Amino acid sequence: MTPKIARFLSQHQPATPCMVMDIDRVEDNFRALCKALPLARIYYAVKANPAHQVLERLVSLSSHFDAASIEEVEACLDAGARPAAISFGNTIKKVSAIKRAHDAGVTMFAFDSREELTKLASHAPGARVYCRILVENEGAEWPLSRKFGTTIESARELMLEAGELGLDPYGLSFHVGSQQTTTNAYEVAIGKVAMLFTDLTEAGVNLRMMNLGGGFPTRYRDDVPEIDRFGDAIMTAMTEHFGNNLPDMVIEPGRYVVGDAGVVQAEVVLVSQRDKNSPVRWVYLDIGRFGGLAETEGESIKYRITTPYDGTATGPVAIAGPTCDGADIMYEKSNYRLPLALTSGDRVELQATGAYVTTYCSTKFNGFAPLAEYYL
Ligand SMILES: *Cc1c(COP(=O)(O)O)cnc(C)c1O
Repeated sequence: MTPKIARFLSQHQPATPCMVMDIDRVEDNFRALCKALPLARIYYAVKANPAHQVLERLVSLSSHFDAASIEEVEACLDAGARPAAISFGNTIKKVSAIKRAHDAGVTMFAFDSREELTKLASHAPGARVYCRILVENEGAEWPLSRKFGTTIESARELMLEAGELGLDPYGLSFHVGSQQTTTNAYEVAIGKVAMLFTDLTEAGVNLRMMNLGGGFPTRYRDDVPEIDRFGDAIMTAMTEHFGNNLPDMVIEPGRYVVGDAGVVQAEVVLVSQRDKNSPVRWVYLDIGRFGGLAETEGESIKYRITTPYDGTATGPVAIAGPTCDGADIMYEKSNYRLPLALTSGDRVELQATGAYVTTYCSTKFNGFAPLAEYYL
């Protein structure tokens, strides 16, 4: 938690649950990425946190944007982004959305299937298109595999076809899975996709861009490698495969940019030792799986939780949300421990909750108001 967030929380005592973000930290993270990968163009993945204040700050830093829907495209434009700085990166788009983005001046689109390529040819004629390749997501704590990306063989065919359809076959992309904790995932993916890149270039396709996707991790409960390690691994792999003929490099970070810039403050609603024969206390918070903590599904993302009693004796806990749904449990198997002094009414913080929290919040489930948001 940054000093600015700590000051805001102590001075204003906002109603909980709320997410408070320090936009200066967003800028710090963006600059750290620029420094780690100076040759890459950064397309911020808007879905990680689409707040106007985040987008505006990133526009002021000359960021580009990866949008997943026409609404996200328009949010970027509203924040002052140039249409040419926006990539429509979802491989699954409605025709109406393609048309509206094309009309608004967006020129870069992703695809991973023949039908999507045909839709782009009809409704975004002349656009720069890039094909997403399916790669391993091993090492990712929030994998995206299976749903997106195509094989090398089919990508080759489709990229050869793109030109014939009047599109500009601009490049290739992949995504190694979100919260990727290994640099090796990027190295392996670059090796795989670079081979296709070279092959298509030799076949006469004027490819110019490699999109390495997002995945760069935020520090949650456990340590993750520093961003510079990812930068070094990526540059080493790129130069190994392309030598001095580096294509345009694009990255699409989401989580890394906003994750540790935000903090959720929540209230303890109840602490209950439900089984007399077990030391485990159940701690119920006023935020849960339906209040924005969707990535606790499968206990995948393990947020760090701080309390007013940190440093005092702790005991094992299960941590759950406030709704009447049995799935509204965050952690039961991940060996969380919280201070024995913790009781209802206490405020706790879930650290590094700036990414993939505010937008995953349900609107009214069980009548609970959506997560409040403050941007400082
Ligand atoms: C979600 C997504 C990203 C951002 O991923 P992070 O893990 O948050 O960096 C980037 N590109 C695409 C295509 C995505 O779907």
